Amino acid sequence: MNLSKKFMGISPSPTLSIDAKFKQMKADGLNVVGFGAGEPDFDTPSHIKQAAIDAIMSGMTKYTPASGILPLKKAVCDKLKKDNNLDYEPSQIVISNGAKHSLMNVFGAILNPGDEVIIPAPYWVSYSEMVKLNDGVPVIVYSGEDEDFKITPKKIEENITDKTKAIIINSPSNPTGMVYTEEELKNIADVCLKHGIYIVSDEIYEYLIYDDKKHFSIAQISDEIKDITIIVNGVSKTYAMTGWRIGYTASNPTIAKMMSNVQSHATSNPNSIAQYAALAALTGPTDELDKMISEFSKRRDYMCERIEKIDGVSSLKPNGAFYVMMNISKLYGKQINGKTINSADDFAEFFLESKLVAVVPGTGFSAKDYVRWSYATSLENIKEGLDRLESFLSELK
Ligand code: PMP
Ligand code: GLU
Repeated sequence: MNLSKKFMGISPSPTLSIDAKFKQMKADGLNVVGFGAGEPDFDTPSHIKQAAIDAIMSGMTKYTPASGILPLKKAVCDKLKKDNNLDYEPSQIVISNGAKHSLMNVFGAILNPGDEVIIPAPYWVSYSEMVKLNDGVPVIVYSGEDEDFKITPKKIEENITDKTKAIIINSPSNPTGMVYTEEELKNIADVCLKHGIYIVSDEIYEYLIYDDKKHFSIAQISDEIKDITIIVNGVSKTYAMTGWRIGYTASNPTIAKMMSNVQSHATSNPNSIAQYAALAALTGPTDELDKMISEFSKRRDYMCERIEKIDGVSSLKPNGAFYVMMNISKLYGKQINGKTINSADDFAEFFLESKLVAVVPGTGFSAKDYVRWSYATSLENIKEGLDRLESFLSELK
């Protein structure tokens, strides 16, 4: 049978695969500790759950407008004004089935076959596959630890061709946790404006920023930049709502209309009940959120301090999101149970096999010498995972 070449060229999400493997091992009764998926371990705050229950009981169980209910779009506009000082009309907002779906819509709206998208690496695993699914060509541009894993205007210039259509900016970043400063974003925006390329700004970790760092949206720079920027955000990470599947975009009206048209055929509206829950999340009290952020910050400090003391591995302290990239390149050539570690994939495999700890190898993020630990798990699990790391390292020959 002649199946779709496009679909056949897509690999499964490694983050979701590792999480599925971890959950299966746990269900099988193994004492496994998981640092795989970036999924907050907190429960969705109860006022959000209550809003969903109320939506069901009051009959909000029918189709809604394909691009989302007006009160939710208005709440997104209010959020963008309050947090980012950005003015958008509800007609510029499209609510989708999670930020993943929003990103698919964005690439669908802006790409023609062969268009290139610059993806600063290390990058979140799904970007490259989403670009390919929309007939685009991912152009992966790596920046190392010595550059704080951040792309520079110079590197962007070097990779721009007459086919370049867009760049993805993800700050705070998954997987590195790095946060771009206002100054850095201004310099990047200048290059994008000069070459007329879109900026896809994935701001899903916006609130998960620690210390004195502050989120700045690249769309805030000027009206011209705002016009070429598509902001992607959602409720999954901030409000511990990964399963509810609500994401959104803010863009110029033409792009918003195109995405809304496509969505009206592809999926219709995102789940009506989840939309009311997201409305409660965006407009309700923030004390639960504040607690989560402070807990994430403590976990990050603990994890980085421990890693710093462990010989053979190292990490850059992240400023946002809930991930730590651990450099394991000093372990290459070492052996465990007669098997040699030659890559991050080997490390992740042998660590899981011998110590029952799940981490994500950097390969899928284009970060070959690293493994990613998600600290969206309890401090108790983090302690246990790092104890097992020490034990694993002590057994290497
Ligand atoms: N962008 C980034 C950087 C992410 O890490 C994720 C996590 N899944 C998403 C987008 C998608 O989030 P959602 O759960 O809303 O689809
Ligand atoms: N974004 C999260 C992660 O990187 C969740 C899994 C996924 O959607 O990729 O682990």
